[in-house]
Amino acid sequence: MTNILVINAGSSSLKYQLIDIDTESVIAKGICERIGIAGSMLTYKPAEGDKVEIQKDMKDHQDAIQMVLDILADKEVGVITDMSSIAAVGHRVLHGGEKFSAPVVIDDAVLAAIEECIPLGPLHNPANLMGIRGCMAVMPGVPMVAVFDTAWGQTMDKKAYMYGTPYEAYEKYRVRRYGFHGTSHRYVTGRALELLEKEGVAKENARVITCHLGNGSSCSCSLGGKCVDTSMGLTPLEGMPMGTRCGSIDPAIVPFLMEKMGLSASEMDTYMNKKSGMLGISGVSSDFRDLGAAAEAGNERAKLALEMFAYKTKQYIGSYAASLNGVDAIVFTAGVGENDRDVRAMVMENMEYLGIEFDKEYNQTCPRGQEVELSTKNSKVHVYVIPTDEEMTIARDTAALAL
Ligand code: AMP
Repeated sequence: MTNILVINAGSSSLKYQLIDIDTESVIAKGICERIGIAGSMLTYKPAEGDKVEIQKDMKDHQDAIQMVLDILADKEVGVITDMSSIAAVGHRVLHGGEKFSAPVVIDDAVLAAIEECIPLGPLHNPANLMGIRGCMAVMPGVPMVAVFDTAWGQTMDKKAYMYGTPYEAYEKYRVRRYGFHGTSHRYVTGRALELLEKEGVAKENARVITCHLGNGSSCSCSLGGKCVDTSMGLTPLEGMPMGTRCGSIDPAIVPFLMEKMGLSASEMDTYMNKKSGMLGISGVSSDFRDLGAAAEAGNERAKLALEMFAYKTKQYIGSYAASLNGVDAIVFTAGVGENDRDVRAMVMENMEYLGIEFDKEYNQTCPRGQEVELSTKNSKVHVYVIPTDEEMTIARDTAALAL
């Protein structure tokens, strides 16, 4: 048994999973919430056993990690004897800028580089650093690895990642496309390459389009497992309209609305990130289950939000097929991609021009939560649902570098 602890730290939350990398199984997982806020709570669920909830103040991320270690080694509900049974820790880090194109073992220079990327990820990177530093304080000597959400996008060609803003914006402020959800796109692409190889498509030539559709959504395309393009940009705001994000809009809308509504830059940022997208268009919810139910009940704006989402996703697939000169596989993943049959059907409608034959019936009846192929035998393009597993990818990366 070789245990890897995977940590995903947010500003007031910390998700964790303890994974036995020998068997690739999750031994326990949970979340610390309201860190540094009154009413902090830890949730813990061992693979074999009931969920436990503990309410106890956690003043910072170090407190949270100490509580995680205590419960993991608890005499009654724990799954390990003590901290020495954790071989390494893998941390999810949002923004690695242009400094990181692969996971790295964390040392002082890496910490400094993650810090330098704070202007690019002002909300997430400080939280990720608090998670790493908290872990280092309570687990001295345990090797730690950082896995960056932006690393996947680092193989993009310059013509794909540059914006049409003056070159100085790139030189001075590193304004360019980075892309996010990289760990997920990498994981499902890797799996698609294995499936395609069985169909006679060589890995090095495989053209894959991945649709990570969840509360946040992005599409990406790759050739031979290397990212060619991706829909999120300098920040996760670009792309299709998402749960609460507006996605790509005419940039002139930003100063226009700021002036009309008297919004500051940060208020406009909130408007676009938290009040827009599915929520803002429908006025109902950011959750696709609620939207589906409302649309079914005749709510026109909920229907419109879903149609806009599917239309934009379809357009990304079309444009990426152009980038790749064709496509061998399209992959649906994440909460919506794995579960929402109606959204998948809308995205795949009228795609015959690409050689896709989509099995509409099987899309409605296929099992949930597992890998399935939704294209027919005659389809030139394989359409897969591949459940994503970012934590397992982080655990694998951590084991490969730290053990
Ligand atoms: P994620 O960000 O990957 O966790 O995905 C969250 C989104 O997935 C939410 O909008 C959920 O509504 C959606 N989702 C989860 N389960 C289902 C389901 N069974 N049907 C439709 N949407 C779902």
